[in-house]
Amino acid sequence: MGQYFKAVNLDKREVVCPWCLGGVAKLWEWAAGRHGPVFTLLLRKSSATGGGDYFDPIPSSEREIRIDPTTDEKQTASAVLGAIMLSVAAEGQPIAEDGKSVVGRWAGDRVALVGDYDRSRLWDELPRYRNISKELVEAWNDFIEIDDMKLTFNPNCNCQ
Ligand SMILES: [Zn+2]
Repeated sequence: MGQYFKAVNLDKREVVCPWCLGGVAKLWEWAAGRHGPVFTLLLRKSSATGGGDYFDPIPSSEREIRIDPTTDEKQTASAVLGAIMLSVAAEGQPIAEDGKSVVGRWAGDRVALVGDYDRSRLWDELPRYRNISKELVEAWNDFIEIDDMKLTFNPNCNCQ
């Protein structure tokens, strides 16, 4: 029992299905579940990048500063300065967007979490909307570096 919700883009006629994301569908479950933060990627709006961004041109592994305890202070200072310079140089760089990514795809659009009890009956039309859940899971897992926050696409969801 309970009302289920799917994330819907009314302008692009696209849907994100919580069960396809390996999650569950009640509003509270969207709020507290592992799949709720996907709106971070869908709603991102910027034409430039920065540290911590999806389009960060520098892999996080290159942002790490490894200091060997046997190196002297001068070498250590040089390594730290190099890492800072690399990060600063990458801030605010334009993004080469191909227009196909789900990242930022919904920014500025009419977007709603649509419930199956809503009198609009929009829920019943959702099977005819484009389901972008698989692409979203792939983009999310590329972005998030925390294993416990990765999503597992469910190819057997009965919405497909
Ligand atoms: Zn589904």
